[in-house]
Amino acid sequence: MNKHKVAIVGSGPAGLAAAIYTSRAEIETVVYAGEEPGGQLTKTTEIENYPGVVGKTGPELMVAMTEQAQKFGARVEYETVVDIEKLQSEYDAVILAMGASPRLLGVGEDAYWGKGFSTCAVCDAAFYKGKNVYVIGGGDSAIEDATALTKFASHVTLLVRGTEFRASKAMQKRLEQHRDQISVMWKTNLKAIKGERVEQLVLDVDGEEKVVDVEGLFFAIGHLPATGFLKESKVKLDQEGYILTQSASRLAGENIEVVWPTMTSVPGVFAAGDCVDHRYRQAGTAVGMGIAAALDCERWLESVQG
Ligand SMILES: Cc1cc2nc3c(=O)[nH]c(=O)nc-3n(C[C@H](O)[C@H](O)[C@H](O)COP(=O)(O)OP(=O)(O)OC[C@H]3O[C@@H](n4cnc5c(N)ncnc54)[C@H](O)[C@@H]3O)c2cc1C
Repeated sequence: MNKHKVAIVGSGPAGLAAAIYTSRAEIETVVYAGEEPGGQLTKTTEIENYPGVVGKTGPELMVAMTEQAQKFGARVEYETVVDIEKLQSEYDAVILAMGASPRLLGVGEDAYWGKGFSTCAVCDAAFYKGKNVYVIGGGDSAIEDATALTKFASHVTLLVRGTEFRASKAMQKRLEQHRDQISVMWKTNLKAIKGERVEQLVLDVDGEEKVVDVEGLFFAIGHLPATGFLKESKVKLDQEGYILTQSASRLAGENIEVVWPTMTSVPGVFAAGDCVDHRYRQAGTAVGMGIAAALDCERWLESVQG
């Protein structure tokens, strides 16, 4: 008989990595999968940068992680959690791993995941060697993505909605160093995408329609952490809605003692992955955070309940 019971909210890399560890530690583990079982990686095709995994697609990797967790006894419930307090009353501990969704524009881009459309330049830039790509956004991450793409793409065009960047001066300076490879179109909105893969973009440029040929499209218009249901709870979030674990609070400048790095402001509630991390956003880093949360959770349970 398992002594302890843990609920894991989210079935992406962070949640499933945590589930593998808690179930192997003989903690009764229930994973709530939410609306996107397997998480963000199910949107992509080949994964090239996850150590030790070669020739697998994102969905295949997530099926393997799910089966690995189930093999050790984790149960997956295809439900979405809306009430954290109820969950706390039913379990000895909770691990939050709800991830974050890239912001989209709703112009039909959903049909092009893995077909020339991506929201992760760090992950996918290398697939665009010698290609003509467009990046949408005017902030730091748009310039970061555009400059990262110059290592591979033949040319990068940044589409900016307004007449100036929101990006920091430092990032704008970085852009200037790549101006031979990056051009900027101001007052430009994406209206539609055409082709079997991403082949053409229909743009509104200062009120005039323009159609351009492209071979790749990246959105860099921000992410939304899936933490809406925590807003009225005692779990502390930062201004953008990311969960503040003890480590994250410390990094944000708060003078707190970090005893359980992955614990939130609520004892017994831990958090991991993209719902905490707005810097790295990788499957590997989410897995690492999930494992850390599972180990903190296991040790915390032993320390308070024996
Ligand atoms: C197109 C694309 C390509 C990518 N390619 C790569 C790559 O090649 N390599 C790489 O390392 N990274 C890649 N990434 C990034 C990587 O997918 C993420 O960093 C990683 O998935 C984050 O893991 P996570 O577990 O924190 O969250 P997610 O993967 O976002 O999973 C969140 C989970 O939480 C669930 N959930 C949310 N709310 C609730 C709720 N209220 N109740 C229950 N469940 C809930 C969701 O259903 C989902 O299962 C890519 C991302 C995208 C979008």
